[in-house]
Amino acid sequence: MRLVEKGVLIVISGPSGVGKGTVRASIFKQENHNLEYSISMTTRKPRVGEVDGVDYFFVEKEEFLDRIDQGQLLEWAEFVGNYYGTPLDYVKKKLDEGKDVVLEIEVQGALQVKNVMPDACFIFIAPPSMEELRNRIMTRGTEAMEVINKRMQKAESEIGLAHEYDYIVINDTVENARDRIMVIIEAEHSRSNRV
Ligand code: 5GP
Repeated sequence: MRLVEKGVLIVISGPSGVGKGTVRASIFKQENHNLEYSISMTTRKPRVGEVDGVDYFFVEKEEFLDRIDQGQLLEWAEFVGNYYGTPLDYVKKKLDEGKDVVLEIEVQGALQVKNVMPDACFIFIAPPSMEELRNRIMTRGTEAMEVINKRMQKAESEIGLAHEYDYIVINDTVENARDRIMVIIEAEHSRSNRV
């Protein structure tokens, strides 16, 4: 008999610019959740307003590559010229404590997690349309045109992998996407292979 029920790993993924971060923030703003957010490590430089240890752990490439060598990352990916990865220890510790852990990561990384932790709950956030996705990336206004085009190309191939996920949630409005995800998380605890 297990004394502490293990938490569920919730992988929120989807193309860059789809609003994963906003939906995640909205989920964490709610009261009475039992969720922990896993802060990723990246070699990307901070954007204006981003804080080390809150938005990401910002590191140099050398340190990131060391972490990979030492097996300290649950998954990692190179995304538009930068590295991103999930520190393994934190995820393991929180799941063992019975907390649900949320990862907000891109698609290559999510598929790596699927290989090592197939029991995790995989949620793909999709845009209402590709035009809407381009608008969202452009309105963010932090990226040069070349980067925007690269992100759009990447988004198209990522959307082609949505069928690999357990759930697809359209981000038509942040509140709708948040509410659907909360229902999914609730339902995950009742899955026959978890109870
Ligand atoms: P951004 O540079 O816009 O913050 O993030 C670029 C992409 O990397 C986003 O799709 C974001 O979800 C993803 N990302 C953030 N952290 C991680 C991570 O730890 N692992 C992976 N594979 N992707 C991540």
